Amino acid sequence: MTSSDSNNISVLRLGHRRERDKRITSHLGLTARAFGADEIILSGEEDNSPIETWTSVTSRFGGDFDCHYEPKPLNFLRKISKTKSSTIIHLTMYGQDLEEIIPKIPNDKSMIIVVGGTKVPGEVYGLSDYNISIGNQPHSEVAALAIFLNTWVGRIDSSEKFNGGEIKVIPSIRGKKVFVAEEE
Ligand code: SAM
Repeated sequence: MTSSDSNNISVLRLGHRRERDKRITSHLGLTARAFGADEIILSGEEDNSPIETWTSVTSRFGGDFDCHYEPKPLNFLRKISKTKSSTIIHLTMYGQDLEEIIPKIPNDKSMIIVVGGTKVPGEVYGLSDYNISIGNQPHSEVAALAIFLNTWVGRIDSSEKFNGGEIKVIPSIRGKKVFVAEEE
């Protein structure tokens, strides 16, 4: 299953806690970018640190990946749910099985993938078009997002998706081989 290139994939990170979630939120955005999302929206406690990390990685490794802070994520989701401008996918261990739901998701529409941190407000389950589980055991938002994106987007053509960066990794048998673009 692949999503159409013209459709935007956003990830909404709910309930970020500045100290406790420092690394996991940063990894969530990097995973979103690497597995084909176009954007991550941070909510919870306001924090420039993950935004700086995502911006810096994108400028060094290429591609168009947006990130910003949303102070009112529930209002944001309510508006999307009302206008039906994007499909809202909520990743939760309590949801329906990924394999069962994937064929039902429209592939001609943009998508917001919602992942939690602290307790997810009950309203999110109702606002979402699909509550999807990646297995029904508790694990991590990073794992859930990676598996969902890998299933939905499929294999990414790195040279197309991540062009324009300063660094390009050359896959090699051993060691680290990179191409570094010369400054103009
Ligand atoms: N305690 C939180 C709650 O009550 O909703 C969940 C915390 S969990 C560590 C953080 C996030 O990881 C969840 O909100 C969900 O998005 C994702 N997640 C964890 N396990 C999952 C699973 N089995 N399937 C889908 N998403 C999962």
